[in-house]
Amino acid sequence: MEFETRAIHEGQKPDPQTGAVIVPIYLTSTYEQEAIGQHKGYEYSRTGNPTRQALEDALASLENAKFGLAFASGLAATTTVLSLLKTGDHIVAGDDLYGGTYRLLEKVVKNWGVDTTYVDIDNIHDFESAIQSNTKLIWIETPTNPLLKIIDIAALANFAHQNNIILVVDNTFASPYFQQPLNLGADIVVHSTTKYLGGHSDIIGGAVVTSNEELYQQLKFYQNAIGAVPSPFDSWLVLRGIKTLAVRMREHEKNALFLAKYLEKHPKVERIYYPGLPTHEQYHLAKEQMSGFGGMISLELKGGLTEVERFASRLQLFLLAESLGGVESLLCYPAKMTHGSLPEAERLKRGIKDNLVRLSVGIEHYLDLQADVENALADK
Ligand SMILES: *Cc1c(COP(=O)(O)O)cnc(C)c1O
Repeated sequence: MEFETRAIHEGQKPDPQTGAVIVPIYLTSTYEQEAIGQHKGYEYSRTGNPTRQALEDALASLENAKFGLAFASGLAATTTVLSLLKTGDHIVAGDDLYGGTYRLLEKVVKNWGVDTTYVDIDNIHDFESAIQSNTKLIWIETPTNPLLKIIDIAALANFAHQNNIILVVDNTFASPYFQQPLNLGADIVVHSTTKYLGGHSDIIGGAVVTSNEELYQQLKFYQNAIGAVPSPFDSWLVLRGIKTLAVRMREHEKNALFLAKYLEKHPKVERIYYPGLPTHEQYHLAKEQMSGFGGMISLELKGGLTEVERFASRLQLFLLAESLGGVESLLCYPAKMTHGSLPEAERLKRGIKDNLVRLSVGIEHYLDLQADVENALADK
C-alpha cells in the first residue's frame, strides 16, 4: 500500500468490540489478568497501551520499518536511544544539531562518561577522521537545523557499518513523507512527533523506529525501564495528525518553495537556505535522497538584530515562537531561541549568525504568507 493509505489504516483497524472507526483512547493504567501470568498482551500502561501500540505500528509503517516506539517527547526518544551507550563509549555527531540534542549530549550524556565529537557535515571525510576505536554511534540530522544542510545518508551508513558503528538519523525536519533514512541504510530513525507528525502544535511527543530486531529489543527494554512514554491521549493526537501527514507536507512544501523563490530575490535578504532551490549547495543530493524538500526555510537578513527584531514584530501571520511543523507559520530566532543554549562562540562557529531567522512555513494560502513577509520587509 502507498504512504497515504498506510498513514490512515496501518495499526488503526476498527475497534473489534464496538466497530468504532477511530482507535479509542485507552485511559487505563492497568489491565485485569484472567489468571496469574495470563493476560491479553497488556499488563501496565508504561509497558504497553493499545492506543500507543496503534501509534507505534503506524510510525513503523511510515518509515518502512519493522518496529516503532513512541515517547513523551523527541528528547525522551533521544535519551532512550543514547542509553544504548556505556561509560567509555564515544559519539560522533553532526555539528548543525537541534540545540536540545547538543545540550543533552554536553550536559547529561557527558556525565555518563560518554563524550561526543562534533564534525562539519559538509565533508564526510571529517566523520572518518573523527571516529575512534570506542566510537559506537553516529548521530545526524538532515536537513540540519537551522542551516538546512544535507548529508549523504547512504554514504555515511556505508562508512558506519564498515566500522561497526550505529547510524542514527533525526528525521524530524523531512518527516517520513519526504525521507526514509532506513531505506538508505540508517539503523535507527528518531522523530520529534511534536513537529510534522503531530502537525497541529498541540502536543509534545517523540518516536524511534528501526528494522534491527536486536536494537529494537534493547530500545523496547529501555522504553519501559526509563519510562518516558506518551499518554494515551497524546498518542491518539499524534495518530490523528499522521492521517493527514501527506497532504500537509505537500502544502508545506509548495508554500515554502514559493516563498523561498520570492525571498531569494528580495533586496533585504542577504542569503537564503532552502534545499529545494537549485542554488542550494547540496540541491542535487537533496533531490536524490529526498522525495521533497520540506517546509523549513532559513534566511539571513541584511543587517543584524535590529533588522530581525523589526521583521519579527511587523509579521502578522508568522508567529514568533519556538517549534515548527504545525499548520500555522512560525518564525524563530535561533541565536536566542532554539540555539540559545549554545555558547556564542560555538554558535558563530557553526554559522548561526545574529541576522539568521528560521521560518516554519505553514499551510495558510501562499499569497497571504507572501504579503505578510513583503509587508514586514517594506521600508514603511
Ligand atoms: C524539536 C526537535 C527535537 C526535540 O523534540 P521535543 O519533542 O521538543 O523533545 C529534536 N530534534 C529536532 C530536529 C527537533 O526539531
